[in-house]
Amino acid sequence: MIVDNLGRSFKNLRVSLTAACNYACTYCVPDGKRLMPARNELSARELLKLVGYIQEAAGIEKLRITGGDPLVTPKFDEFLLGVSKFPLRDISLTTNGQLLLQKAAVLKESGIKRINISLDTLNPLKFKQIARGGDLDIVLAGIDKMLELGIKIKINMVPMRNQNLSDVQRLLEYSLQRGIELRFIELMRMGHLLHGPSFQQEFLSMQAILDEIAKVHSFQRADAPFDSTAVRFHIPGKGYFGVIANESEPFCTACTRLRISSDGYLYGCLSSARRQPLGELLEMPRYLVLPKLQGLLLSALGDKQLSFQGETTVMKFIGG
Ligand code: SAM
Repeated sequence: MIVDNLGRSFKNLRVSLTAACNYACTYCVPDGKRLMPARNELSARELLKLVGYIQEAAGIEKLRITGGDPLVTPKFDEFLLGVSKFPLRDISLTTNGQLLLQKAAVLKESGIKRINISLDTLNPLKFKQIARGGDLDIVLAGIDKMLELGIKIKINMVPMRNQNLSDVQRLLEYSLQRGIELRFIELMRMGHLLHGPSFQQEFLSMQAILDEIAKVHSFQRADAPFDSTAVRFHIPGKGYFGVIANESEPFCTACTRLRISSDGYLYGCLSSARRQPLGELLEMPRYLVLPKLQGLLLSALGDKQLSFQGETTVMKFIGG
């Protein structure tokens, strides 16, 4: 296993199947244009091959399928069913939920146990304004279907001062009633938010989010695993919620994440645009692949930062 001087290694792999998305969320996509795949995206077979190599070289334990939106690409079924056969401790999926109903059969067949669904509001009008695509009722029906299948759901919400602050409480009630753990993600300085005023105007700190919740609930901090990115809280008798507090309590020094973009690059850090090309591994004889990959993984580990500074990279290209 490759380890840096802070004890960080790669245990969690996030694979972006496509940069295409059926939403164009205000905080993610600068130009509001949907459904734009990256050029030269890899096939499911190529991505599976790379995942196999990386698992062998880095000792990956957990894998998350992401995007863009991973459900919009035709390679989703092949990738999901293929990766489900890998000896991994955990396979999960992050999606906006718009296509969950259509994908219910393959999700069930794969045996996937956990899905994170991004949902920023329960107000249909605000939903259209923030996601700039999709339909709220379809997402809610998808959530019900996944719960019916016995799949564990987390909801990811990005609270923003001027767009959905009043939904913090509503989404929390909705989640608690269904035994869903809600994760508030502090707005990150990614893509177009790195420069310009929007980040400061919209950012809500963990404390601001907790203050909003404290108007209705008492809660206390709960345990979280060492490399967890979320700070977790318990509302006695009701359930749990978490905050991914990139700015308020950065977790960079314990980060074990590695990312593959849909066009075949390795990213060691969300807060760095540095990337390592994987494409040539697909052409190499197997005995040359592992030594080459060790070098790429070392470089990717060296790209990890000590704190989150943000990047101009658009999240949908590397999967958040
Ligand atoms: N389309 C899928 C989805 O909606 O979950 C997967 C990709 S999306 C890039 C992954 C996560 O990143 C989503 O939960 C989204 O809300 C979050 N995200 C994107 N841009 C963000 C930003 N600037 N700050 C915080 N979270 C962001």
